[in-house]
Amino acid sequence: MANFANETISAYDEPSLVEAKIMNKIRVTVWNEFRHEQLNEKVKQIYPNGIHNALAESLVSHGCQLRTATLDEPEHGLGEKVLDETDVLVWWGHMAHDEVEDEVVNRVHRHVLQGLGLVVLHSGHHSKIFRSLMGTTCSLRWREAGEKTRVWVVAPGHPIAAGLDHYFEIPQAEMYGEHFDIPVPDELVFVSWFQGGEVFRSGCCFYRGRGKIFYFQPGHETYPIYHQAEVQRVIANGVRWAQPSAGPGFLYGDGGALHASDSLESLG
Ligand code: ZN
Repeated sequence: MANFANETISAYDEPSLVEAKIMNKIRVTVWNEFRHEQLNEKVKQIYPNGIHNALAESLVSHGCQLRTATLDEPEHGLGEKVLDETDVLVWWGHMAHDEVEDEVVNRVHRHVLQGLGLVVLHSGHHSKIFRSLMGTTCSLRWREAGEKTRVWVVAPGHPIAAGLDHYFEIPQAEMYGEHFDIPVPDELVFVSWFQGGEVFRSGCCFYRGRGKIFYFQPGHETYPIYHQAEVQRVIANGVRWAQPSAGPGFLYGDGGALHASDSLESLG
């Protein structure tokens, strides 16, 4: 795991990494299972280079340093070195959650506890990594009817809501409705309303170990949702919020007293 608190540049860093540090850019890896875009003509038209590249282009325009990874790469593109060089991992998966190797899930989980930020999008609610970090089924109600969604900001002071209005609308979206079987979020940023009447906690923040996790609901593959400016802004804000903090290290287990032994005796 990289020491994110250490801003020095070592002689062994790759040029792209050196540039990211000099520019103080967040190092983002966008992961996509990349199946719908190859199997479904409609999805291919909306995302000709894959959802991962659409997200990557947007995040580059928001000042991030990008790499992408997909399911069919060795280790799903998420080897130890890639994760060491990643500040925030963005996750999009849907039809192939079960094909993600447990070893890779465990590796990502360990990195999150050590400080890797994780932004989970849309159908990633049922990914192995999100469910393992939440500890619940993460199940929800859904309906694919192309209905309008209104995404309401419920935490206007939260950094993920920066630059937004009270709400924004997505003209056509897949409905995700309550109950969403997640632990109570540590911070709730968005609640969505759907034309059919349901509501959904659509922007949820969680802390696990040193890591920060942001779940954001919009993004069904047959609608051009990741081309919408407000959605791109929220994802960029989420990445910025989830980046590792340079907080103190862990102090666990049997520990000596901070004060001299005579002060401990006075406690007895
Ligand atoms: Zn969907």
